[in-house]
Amino acid sequence: MLANATAATIKGIEGFAVSVEVDIAPGLPNFAVVGLPDAEVKESKERVTAAIRNSGFDFPLKRITVNLGPAELRKSGTQFDLPIALGILAASEQLSAPAREKIKDFLVLGELALDGSLRPCAGVLPMLISCKTLGKMAIIPPANALEGQISSAPFITPHTLRELADYLEEKIPLETVQLAYVPTEEITPQTTLDFNEVKGQALAKRALEIAAAGGHNVLMIGLPGTGKSMLAKRFPGILPPLTQDEALEITKIYSICNLLGKSRLLTNRPFRDPHHTISDVALIGGGSTPKPGEVSLAHNGVLFLDEFAEFSRSALEVLREPLENGHVTISRAKETVSYPARFTLVAAMNPCPCGNLGNPLKPCTCSPTQVTRYKNRISGPLLDRIDLTVNLNPVKFTDWKQGTEGETSAQIRARVLAAREIQKKRFAGTSTTANAFMTSAQLKEFCKLPSGADTILESAMRKFGLSARSLDKILKTARTIADLEGKADIETKHLIEVMQYRPLDRKGVADL
Ligand SMILES: [Zn+2]
Repeated sequence: MLANATAATIKGIEGFAVSVEVDIAPGLPNFAVVGLPDAEVKESKERVTAAIRNSGFDFPLKRITVNLGPAELRKSGTQFDLPIALGILAASEQLSAPAREKIKDFLVLGELALDGSLRPCAGVLPMLISCKTLGKMAIIPPANALEGQISSAPFITPHTLRELADYLEEKIPLETVQLAYVPTEEITPQTTLDFNEVKGQALAKRALEIAAAGGHNVLMIGLPGTGKSMLAKRFPGILPPLTQDEALEITKIYSICNLLGKSRLLTNRPFRDPHHTISDVALIGGGSTPKPGEVSLAHNGVLFLDEFAEFSRSALEVLREPLENGHVTISRAKETVSYPARFTLVAAMNPCPCGNLGNPLKPCTCSPTQVTRYKNRISGPLLDRIDLTVNLNPVKFTDWKQGTEGETSAQIRARVLAAREIQKKRFAGTSTTANAFMTSAQLKEFCKLPSGADTILESAMRKFGLSARSLDKILKTARTIADLEGKADIETKHLIEVMQYRPLDRKGVADL
């Protein structure tokens, strides 16, 4: 006999409906799953067999064929256990005709433990959101209930396969949950770290303010102990609040990576700081069953790469795609998936391998070749994608003595929010969210050069060997500085300020 259920799978960060057909025919006992299942889905057979037996049902000793459609879509994840088990119970007529008929009304997702209880599975939120158009009630594991609430789709959460069967037979009731999606006005960032705790480093603080105001990437170069990590960790506190759409987008990514934990909707901009020994796959995403990497977990937030020059050359080079496009594409034999990865990069590095170059108190023990090799790890094309580079000097005694009298994060954030408000109006109706992400056409329209600025840029281009991409970056950053001042046009002084944040450019760090 043949039975059908509806499930879903993830591709990229979207869910796709999958039809689960189960056929049971006479013949030697066999259990096959076809329709492009990946390794995780194939393992489902063992769990389903044990769960059916341990729930007090018979596992049919016949030829069982499970077909997952559409055929061309790769199926991944453990959520197919429950729809397959339900299909087997229906096809073997262990469910009554009315109960079998009812299965059609549901979207069924859940991993089964061997005892037949339902375990949480990854990606429930994007699958529920994408499948809302089907108009079906969802069946999800109790541990995924918070994600169900965010999706605003109606759902039930049986604890076991047996409980679900009893519900379908109308022996027991199960409560239907559906929360209306209520957008809140503003989701405020929560960080207790304040910029006024960092002494001195006015130039670096200014660079971070510009970065927060326009979505620009920053590289901080300085001796150990100059406060690079302290500054980076306080950066999220001056960023604008997440919008509902942004919050939903990052919550979907965390759902796919099974990282939601007890949070319902992520309300803070992510701050990710992977160690420099991270693999390329963990940084960018991928693997045999593709999963988002750190760059996507930092989406709509901050990716902090400390010891920037210590990351592997290949890891640094793969960063170029997300920095340029705001997403990563992962190609595999049978499919290509894309994950959003629009983050603000905050990178930090020492001036040399031993960390003492330029330190008046400790001598640098590196050879000139070592220093050059170290700095050249950051290639020209990668530097091109960093808008602001700033040198941090050892903190002066006077700055240190000044204590905590610097500006607070709240004061800086107020200026950032005002500049973001200007950009929101400027880019209304387009997909651009900040100056850093302007298209060429927008650059032309909104970043007109002040008179006399041609000569400054031309001499800078000659002096630093600037690329066309760097020039675009300079204009976009100058636009942000003008926005911070509430100026309608870019002025020469804005361009001059940007130039002091571009000491590296195409010549590489080696010429510093
Ligand atoms: Zn050194």
